[in-house]
Amino acid sequence: MFPKKPTKKQHVYLDHGATTQPDALVTQAMEPWLREQFANPSALYSVGVEARSAIEDSRTQIADILHATKDTIVFTSGGTESTNMAILGVARKYAEKGKHIITTEIEHPSVLEPMKQLEKEGFEITYLPVNEEGLLNMKDVVSALREDTILVSIMYVNNEIGSINPIHEIGKEILKWRKKHKTIFPLFHTDACQAASTLDVHVERLHVDLMSINGSKLYGPKGIGLLYKRRGVELEPLMYGGGQEQGIRSGTENVASIMGMAEAFRIAHEQKESYVVHMKDVRDYFFQQMSHIPGVHLNGPSLDNIHRSVGHLNMYFEGIDADALVLYLDEYGIMCAKGSACATGKNEASHVLEAIGLSNERIGGSIRFTIGRDTTKKDIDYVMEYLPGIVEGLRTTV
Ligand SMILES: *Cc1c(COP(=O)(O)O)cnc(C)c1O
Repeated sequence: MFPKKPTKKQHVYLDHGATTQPDALVTQAMEPWLREQFANPSALYSVGVEARSAIEDSRTQIADILHATKDTIVFTSGGTESTNMAILGVARKYAEKGKHIITTEIEHPSVLEPMKQLEKEGFEITYLPVNEEGLLNMKDVVSALREDTILVSIMYVNNEIGSINPIHEIGKEILKWRKKHKTIFPLFHTDACQAASTLDVHVERLHVDLMSINGSKLYGPKGIGLLYKRRGVELEPLMYGGGQEQGIRSGTENVASIMGMAEAFRIAHEQKESYVVHMKDVRDYFFQQMSHIPGVHLNGPSLDNIHRSVGHLNMYFEGIDADALVLYLDEYGIMCAKGSACATGKNEASHVLEAIGLSNERIGGSIRFTIGRDTTKKDIDYVMEYLPGIVEGLRTTV
């Protein structure tokens, strides 16, 4: 017996790891650039010049938040383009300097797939393992470094389980290694798509040479992102054409989305601390409630681990098929995910949950809730009205 459907169906969005709702100020900042101020920013007449200068103001505004100079910001079509641009761009530019790259087993597909492509192009990739909490061992990182390592690419926050890699410490180790070997290699890239809304993105403190961020996980628009690229780092472009974005990313700029992303960055930067406190509070409340359901377990870092992102709760429900649970929850207006959105439809076991040593049975019964800055305890109360009954129903009907 499943719980009775609510008479007034609410919508509770718990899939912020997939994308976030654009802030009202974000869409407001985009509006004019989608309508009357539509001119091409490369045009010579005044409305074109206005668009150009608006883009450059956004670039400066974002660069300030990253503690970078504006010439280090390249606008892209999102996280996937940024990571591909960084990885393929560095590898193809500096192949003569070495053909070894280090990454981790739990990266997003937008990192793992270009790595696979590079293997076909003759590069050797080291995939670092993680422990059962999804965390790297710093010693493994250092001992994987070689004279021919040109790039290290390590994600900041894992999208499935929310484990946080100590980017700042890894960056420091890489700097030390470079100094000792009197080289500028390896370059250090981090995929910060899941991190930008809640964690420090100060590029100097993080010691990164390249950093990928998207608008879609930052309460900004989808289909927009950026690559931070330290001065002096060169990249082989992915696309060739009109030479926009310093020749690295040809194509007419997505003016409205750049405005939207800049606004999203501003809001995140100004309010990050309070959002983090709020999200942690709601997450702990949710976890507390869920732990009363029998046969429910947390995947990934323990709740009190400081290397855990505030929004993620990846949970195993014994004796449940994750797909069925996600679909049943949707019937009650509750939106969450099985693993990551990016692997959906492939029907493969999550490589992240495999990497932390979970059994196939456990992986098959695990779903991901990702809390956002607008999620409230009331939302959680609504979820808890139905979740235990749905779990019970699924366990007894199968
Ligand atoms: C979402 C995500 C991406 C891909 O970003 P898109 O904007 O969808 O291309 C890359 N890496 C991580 C960690 C992500 O969460």
